[in-house]
Amino acid sequence: MDKNKVIKEYKKKINLLKKYDKFYYQKSDPIVSDKEYDELKKWVLKIESEYKDIKSKNSPSGKVGYKPSKNFQKVSHRVPMLSLANAFTEEDLLNFEKKILNFLSENKGFKISYSAEPKIDGISASLIYRNGIFEKGLSRGDGREGEDITANLETIKDIPKIIPDKDFPKDIDVRGEVFIQNSNFENLKDKFANPRNAASGSLRQKNPEDTKKIPLNFIAYTFGFEQGLKQKKQSDYLKKLDEWGFKTNPLNKTVAGIKNLIQNYNEVEQQRANLNFDIDGIVYKVNDFDLQKRLGNVANAPRWAIAHKFSSNKAISKILDIDIQIGRTGALTPVAKIKPINIGGVLVSNATLHNEDEINRKDIRIGDTVTVERAGDVIPHILSVDINKREKNSSKFIFPNKCPFCGSKTVKEFNKVTKKIDAVRRCSSEDYYCDKISIEKLKHFVSKDAFNIDGLGKKIIEGFWQLNFIKFPQDIFKLDYKKIEKLEGWGKLSTENLKYSINEKKNISLERLIFALGIRHIGLENAKLLAKHFISFLKFQSLSKTKNYDDLLNIDGIGETQVSSMKVFFSNKINLKVLDELGKILVIKNATAAKQNGLFKNKTFLVTGKLSGISRAEVKSLIEENSGITVSSVTNKLKYLIIGEKPTRRKVESAKQLDIKIINQEDFLKMLNKTS
Ligand code: NAD
Repeated sequence: MDKNKVIKEYKKKINLLKKYDKFYYQKSDPIVSDKEYDELKKWVLKIESEYKDIKSKNSPSGKVGYKPSKNFQKVSHRVPMLSLANAFTEEDLLNFEKKILNFLSENKGFKISYSAEPKIDGISASLIYRNGIFEKGLSRGDGREGEDITANLETIKDIPKIIPDKDFPKDIDVRGEVFIQNSNFENLKDKFANPRNAASGSLRQKNPEDTKKIPLNFIAYTFGFEQGLKQKKQSDYLKKLDEWGFKTNPLNKTVAGIKNLIQNYNEVEQQRANLNFDIDGIVYKVNDFDLQKRLGNVANAPRWAIAHKFSSNKAISKILDIDIQIGRTGALTPVAKIKPINIGGVLVSNATLHNEDEINRKDIRIGDTVTVERAGDVIPHILSVDINKREKNSSKFIFPNKCPFCGSKTVKEFNKVTKKIDAVRRCSSEDYYCDKISIEKLKHFVSKDAFNIDGLGKKIIEGFWQLNFIKFPQDIFKLDYKKIEKLEGWGKLSTENLKYSINEKKNISLERLIFALGIRHIGLENAKLLAKHFISFLKFQSLSKTKNYDDLLNIDGIGETQVSSMKVFFSNKINLKVLDELGKILVIKNATAAKQNGLFKNKTFLVTGKLSGISRAEVKSLIEENSGITVSSVTNKLKYLIIGEKPTRRKVESAKQLDIKIINQEDFLKMLNKTS
């Protein structure tokens, strides 16, 4: 890349980081994951090391946190509150120690003791005590100036308000971490992605009464300004903090030698899931205060400390239970319920076990200690089992041979394409016999790419099913709105709105209807192919009589698997009744053949964010009807990015970087008017 381009890119990323910092530190509501943030930061730091002269004053290498919020009074820290450098590998630790020895001009034989302290993932606070009285408490802010959050900190029981001990320094900033215990976070997990955000959000409430509502804890681990501190070592200071009435971390240790640091790290990582607070690594601090003083700081972190972080992809946890879930096609999916663990900023409590074969292959059992992986957008899964940690009386997990929901036999089918027995076990019941499958089918029927009925979400479908309001798809269009209006949580307006959205969807295209039926192996693309083949609903419906299944094999893209699934669907009387009833209620639009030379020819589109009154599936078919192409990611092949409400920021940013035209829903529809 030429240098000008690099500079442009660099500046853009610096601004992005600044924006992410604001959301994370000031608003306690991050808009990207920690992993994404760290990757961006890594890129910026790499560029700074390659192009020494381009470093911005906003570079993350010289910054701490974010400037204080206007909601609080700004107060200068008497000694700056810094961040910590990070280490991930043994090599990083060796380098850390090497730099210390070089700085102190000592040779390899010089033994350094470290205070190894679990790094609680909360937010730091500085408590000013004068003559043993808690006077003022500050947040870290940008490291130089913090926010005066005294009133909020006063609500925390772990913070002593008066310390009568004569050994307690005359004037000191006691510093530590404000955090929320995992057990308390349980009740808040719908509001915050992880305990850190919950603690930060609660601590920095404008009204201390709101802070009081969420139980916060405080662990002390360092100091800023001090006058009269007698201790010479961090480990002694930690002991004293205990005596003075502060809580300190019971897992703090003094350790020397990199090998021992790693052993301690591994031991703590093993215990991580059992702790009642969230930790994201271990902090190592040179234990001797005189050495700390000599070492001093770099721009935004002390030279004498480092945070040895846990992986942002994996973590060790324990399987509490194995749940069997069922999908609309009857597939039984085992899910491991694990002790909640923070992986890369996201609290994970479920991990997919994929299928019976996977459980057998890895011999996964309830009670096992396992490594869970969560990488990118992939659903968390079990990477490996630690057999050494297995309890003696543990027994093999037996996959149910009867459907846990309807009692039908569970089967593994022979796959004609792969010529192998399927790995997935299924409930063998006919469509709509198994209650759980019925509910899943109904959820699918109203889902976004199917009927896309506003106000009829998964929870409401479940509720209406329990009340016997909806048992089959056609029931959706025959709801008794008078009864709904009387239900708890419903009123005249919400019932009217629901009625309106349902009636609005009585007009539907054939392809969407086929997709909505939830026939196994018939996803959006295949539904489209089938709709184009049958053109009208009547022809589609008459397949049960004509039985021209072999004809379907001539459709490019439809194979034996899909055809045998269609046969199964059309040989079930309930399905035929559903089709018949829907045919009477709905206005089903015939499929139209795509224009060969429509105005979107050679044009590619991608939608991001929520559109209003039109689903993505509909936009997709409009594009395709006009010979356009839809793609799934922003690359230089993309011509138009259509943005709706709350678009994925990364997609918008990448589109800007690649000079891709960004349009909104209105622009898109205008383009269409021109073409139609
Ligand atoms: P940090 O959280 O990685 O480390 C420094 C902090 O560790 C200290 O301020 C202190 O609060 C804490 N700590 C816990 N125990 C400690 C102990 N015993 N001794 C000393 N300190 C201890 O650094 P940071 O600069 O606050 O934040 C960087 C992190 O924040 C990264 O992991 C980054 O991913 C995340 N972040 C995320 C976003 C986002 O948008 N997702 C934005 C900004 C930052």
